[in-house]
Amino acid sequence: MKTQRKKGAPAVQPHDSLAYDLRLALMTQQLQLVFQPKVCIQTQQIVGAEVLLRWQHPVEGLISADRWVSLAETHNLMRPLTLWLLDKVVQYLENANDSAIPLAINVSPNILDGAFAIHILKTLSAAGIAPHLLEIEITESTPVSNMTNLANALHLLQSRGVKIYLDDFGTGYSTMQYLVDVPADGIKIDKRFVQQAPLLPAARLILRSLIELANEIGVTVVCEGVETIEQLTLVKRLGAQIIQGYISGKPMSSDAFTNMIEAPSVSALPDTQLSLYKVQAS
Ligand code: C2E
Ligand code: CA
Ligand code: CA
Repeated sequence: MKTQRKKGAPAVQPHDSLAYDLRLALMTQQLQLVFQPKVCIQTQQIVGAEVLLRWQHPVEGLISADRWVSLAETHNLMRPLTLWLLDKVVQYLENANDSAIPLAINVSPNILDGAFAIHILKTLSAAGIAPHLLEIEITESTPVSNMTNLANALHLLQSRGVKIYLDDFGTGYSTMQYLVDVPADGIKIDKRFVQQAPLLPAARLILRSLIELANEIGVTVVCEGVETIEQLTLVKRLGAQIIQGYISGKPMSSDAFTNMIEAPSVSALPDTQLSLYKVQAS
């Protein structure tokens, strides 16, 4: 929808108008999927990807994720957006056939109930996609209105083979409690800890404790936001298994991602042995 800006009016569209546009974007081609590789530190191979949404608004240009996520949450658009994303991801997996690797989608905890979980399982089954090829990332920084419903839905998905990851781990109000309440195959440690750890002893200590805790419980650790060899060296030394960050690739188009995984087996990570940095892993 085009809005005419009056002289002196704010440069951004009013909330409701932008929400209308988001609804419209869902029906047109303004929403795009981008894929960001997840790489195993040990083998240096791509082991999956997180699929993120990009919204290219015809007038305002690229709308940041923070902006459209809060818009979708306040206007009840998270469910239709996530269903649309699920369909696209399943289509991608169908086309990938034998070369398919696990793809992760973000699901807001407040839309994930039993009915939603059953829909996910039926969609996978109808397309003949093995459930382990889908990963669900649940952010723990969103307050959950019904923890029992969420836990039951996640148990159902996990029992059929869908992998569950706790996203932005370490940033929420109830980080440790989440690990008790809901089933998880892995945690994704928030980029703030990863990026501050080489510089700040307190952040390094928190990062080390989170990785040790996850390893002790037996869940996979993904470190997000790894941009430098220094950060990579540190998370490797502290015992993380997987990284996701600009060091191995920014979020990219599906074609670019397909080319990347089909390329002959080159390392998706720089060699940490070549690092000029000395990282203190205390
Ligand atoms: P997230 O789930 O933690 O996704 C990772 C975000 O970190 C992405 O930002 C990604 O582009 C960014 N990132 C990855 N590696 C690096 C790095 O090395 N350095 C830096 N500085 N950033 C890095 P993006 O795409 O802007 O998404 C922001 C948030 O918006 C996501 O955080 C997620 O919470 C939400 N989001 C994005 N797509 C979806 C979606 O389809 N559904 C839902 N519910 N939320 C989404
Ligand atoms: Ca995520
Ligand atoms: Ca995250």
